[in-house]
Amino acid sequence: MEQRANSTQSTGGESKPAVKRWKPETIAIHEGYRPEPTTKAVGVPIYQTVAYEFESAEHGAALFNNEVEGNIYSRLGNPTNAVLEKRIAALEGGVEALAVSSGMTAVYYALANLVEAGDNFISLPQLYGRTYTLFAHVFPRQGVEVRFAANEAQTERLIDGKTKAIFCESVGNPAGNVADLAVLAEIARRHGVPLVVDNTIATPILLRPIEYGADIVVHAATKFLCGHGTTIGGLIVDSGRFSWLRHRDRFPQFSQPEPAYHDVVYTQRFGDAAYLARCRTLGMGNTGAVLAPFNAFLILQGVETLALRVERHVENARRVAEFLRSHERVAWVSYAGFPDSPLYPMARKYLGDRCVSLLTFGVKGGYEAGIRCFNALQLFMRMVNMGDAKSLACHPASTTHRQLTPEEQAKAGVTPEMLRLSIGIEHIDDILEDLDQALAASAAAESSTRAVAGAAAVRG
Ligand SMILES: *Cc1c(COP(=O)(O)O)cnc(C)c1O
Repeated sequence: MEQRANSTQSTGGESKPAVKRWKPETIAIHEGYRPEPTTKAVGVPIYQTVAYEFESAEHGAALFNNEVEGNIYSRLGNPTNAVLEKRIAALEGGVEALAVSSGMTAVYYALANLVEAGDNFISLPQLYGRTYTLFAHVFPRQGVEVRFAANEAQTERLIDGKTKAIFCESVGNPAGNVADLAVLAEIARRHGVPLVVDNTIATPILLRPIEYGADIVVHAATKFLCGHGTTIGGLIVDSGRFSWLRHRDRFPQFSQPEPAYHDVVYTQRFGDAAYLARCRTLGMGNTGAVLAPFNAFLILQGVETLALRVERHVENARRVAEFLRSHERVAWVSYAGFPDSPLYPMARKYLGDRCVSLLTFGVKGGYEAGIRCFNALQLFMRMVNMGDAKSLACHPASTTHRQLTPEEQAKAGVTPEMLRLSIGIEHIDDILEDLDQALAASAAAESSTRAVAGAAAVRG
């Protein structure tokens, strides 16, 4: 592990006392907020404000110099967002977090803080669609090359003097593969490159990448953290463990005076929180994709029940996977919790016996049967989100992957009859009943189509 850089001062919140840490269930409810002294409000207040008053010119100057704790302007920080930041940092085992406007902002800022034109970073290819597009088409136009590694071990061959990060999703969306984080972390450590992990699908309830050596963790809070399909938001968590000072040749931006921010030397002023301090002041400060405090509040409501919801998601998904596997209308089920699944060994290693609530399956009868089953769903909602309390279904071949040729679809792991499910937290009986009737409807439609075709043949 990297040694921590000497911490001179943290950007926000009280320094972490050396007390026993709460368990995730407790952190999710209490971390980062006690009733504030003025009103004693127990619910986290929504600080719907742009700016904060300075007591004097001297106070303002001290704030701008980061010499005293406090708020200046909500693009740089907001007290409601700060509660969310502290809570997620603690849940992930990091030193600090930054709340941003969306999951895509989190992915983009986390990497943009490390690279400039002429640099490169390495990624596993099993990515959320937009993240793939960002890497394949957007970063390259900004002069940043993204190198896709076929697997974990292959990342090592792609590292050179201009490599600034290794990136992966802890659980790939939608592939459902679990990355071998320990292998990636070991390669990253050996070469003095930070490992950045998108932990959206696993959530810190199932997996905490920092425990396996990740340096930076990002989240689409939009999914499980919020949990109710109401809010788009993102978070970047800093483990505080990567020594930007020791690796100053590769990352001079953290230990040289920053002309864009009062010539601050981030490692001097912010110690082990240098990475996020730069992300906040330079990234957020100058490009401004802030999370609205009301949205931070909504995500906080979700986070309070995260552990309970994930437990139920996991259990419901296991029941659905077993139900589908034994269903006569189902050709195949891909679920990482089945011991005969190629996804199983890594899922077992990193998630234990709790598997994520995403699964795909094939309806017997090809594209038409898949569509019929999809259209017959009544409880499941037809949409392209996940991590919602509601059960959601998606037919990739007719929607998200529609533009691709059959060959390209196959490469992306999409087959014509495939449905993808994100299992919600409704009662399991209702979930199974809906799937059963939809599968029956697809079969009935198929036999009536055949009957009609048969009648037509007779007439013809
Ligand atoms: C949804 C998602 C994102 C993007 O999040 P938004 O909040 O929709 O911008 C990034 N990564 C993963 C793994 C996701 O599932």
